[in-house]
Amino acid sequence: MTKIAIIGAGLSGLSAAHLLKQHADITIFEKARGVGGRMSTRRAEPYFFDHGAQYFTVRAKPFQAFIQPLIDQHIIQTWQTRYVKFFGDQLIESQNDDDQQSRYVGVPGMNSIAKHLAQDTAIHINTRIARLEQQDKWQLTDEQGNKYDNFDWVICTAPAPQAVELLPKTFAYYDELKAVKMRACFSLMLGFDTPLPLDFESAHLTHSDLSWIAVNSHKPGRDEPYTLMVHSSAAYADAHFYADRDMVMDHLISETSRILGHDVSLAQYKTVHGWLYANNATQPESAVFLDTQQQLAACGDWCLGGRVEGAFMAAFNLVTKLKAVGL
Ligand SMILES: Cc1cc2nc3c(=O)[nH]c(=O)nc-3n(C[C@H](O)[C@H](O)[C@H](O)COP(=O)(O)OP(=O)(O)OC[C@H]3O[C@@H](n4cnc5c(N)ncnc54)[C@H](O)[C@@H]3O)c2cc1C
Repeated sequence: MTKIAIIGAGLSGLSAAHLLKQHADITIFEKARGVGGRMSTRRAEPYFFDHGAQYFTVRAKPFQAFIQPLIDQHIIQTWQTRYVKFFGDQLIESQNDDDQQSRYVGVPGMNSIAKHLAQDTAIHINTRIARLEQQDKWQLTDEQGNKYDNFDWVICTAPAPQAVELLPKTFAYYDELKAVKMRACFSLMLGFDTPLPLDFESAHLTHSDLSWIAVNSHKPGRDEPYTLMVHSSAAYADAHFYADRDMVMDHLISETSRILGHDVSLAQYKTVHGWLYANNATQPESAVFLDTQQQLAACGDWCLGGRVEGAFMAAFNLVTKLKAVGL
C-alpha cells in the first residue's frame, strides 16, 4: 500500500488522513503534545478555553457531508449567542440568534473534533520534523535526529511560513508558498468565580486593538466556570508579538475592561497566548499544491482563505487531485 507521511495534526492534516485512509498507509507527525493545531483547547483547571478557532461556518457541500457524522454524534453542535458588533468602543449592532448563520463548535471543546478524527490513525506527537530527504523514497528526520523511512509521498500541512522552512527549494510551488504571508493574534484567557453581567455572549470589534470577545463557557457542553476569551487585532499582535507578554496582557485587559465597563483584571485566572501564524494576510493563486514529480504536497487553511472550512477544503481538494493522479 502507498505510504504517506503527513506533517501536522491540525484540521487539514487530520482531514487529509481521514479522506485517504482507505487508499494509503498514513502516518502523521505533530510537533505539539496534542492534536488540533489552531483548533485546540487550553486546560487550566477548573477553566477551559478554546484559544484558537472560536467557531466555524459551513458553506461547501463536501465540508457539510464531512461534519454530518460528527453532528449526529453531538461532537459538533451549533452555538447560539446574543451577538454584537463594536466600532472602536461604540456598540453599533446587535443581532438575534435567528439572524446568524449557524456557528458550529466542537463539544465539549474545540479540540474534540481533532481528537475524534485522530482515532485509529498512527500519530507521532511531540515530534517536530526538521528535515526531508528523498532518495528512492522520502525520509523524515525529527529534531532529536530520529529517522522515519520509506514514504512514497509527504504532505506538509504546517502554516505556509513553517512549510517553506521544511520543503525543498525544488518543490514545484516553493515560490508561491513563500509568498503567502500570515498574521499574528494574541488570545487573552480570563477565568472568573462569578459571571459578568454582559448583554451579549459574542462580539466582533473593528478599529480597536481587540477583534473578538466571547463568553467561552457559554458554548454548548461546557460545564466549567465562567470564562471570557478575548482576541487582539492582527495589527496589534503583529506590532507587539515580541514585546513583553505581561505588558501585552495588561494592555488587553485594560482595553477589555474599558469596552465592557467591568474591571476584568479581577479575574481569578489570566493568561495570554501568542499565535505567530494565526490567519492569512494574502492568499495564493493556486488552490492545490501538489508536486507529482517529487510526490510532495502542501496544504492548509492558507490555501483557501484561512478559516476552519478552508483548512478542510484545502485537504479535500488535494486528496481529490491525488486520487485523480492515481496515488
Ligand atoms: C486565535 C485564532 C482564532 C481563530 N478563529 C477562527 C474562527 O473563529 N473561525 C474559523 O473558521 N477559523 C478561525 N481561526 C483559523 C483556524 O483555526 C485555522 O484556519 C485552522 O485551524 C487551520 O488548520 P490547519 O490544519 O490548516 O493548520 P494548523 O491548525 O495550524 O495545523 C498545522 C499543524 O502542523 C504542526 N506543525 C507545524 N510544523 C511542524 C513540524 N515541523 N513538524 C510537525 N508538526 C508541525 C502544528 O503544530 C499544527 O498542529 C482562528 C485561528 C486562530 C489562531
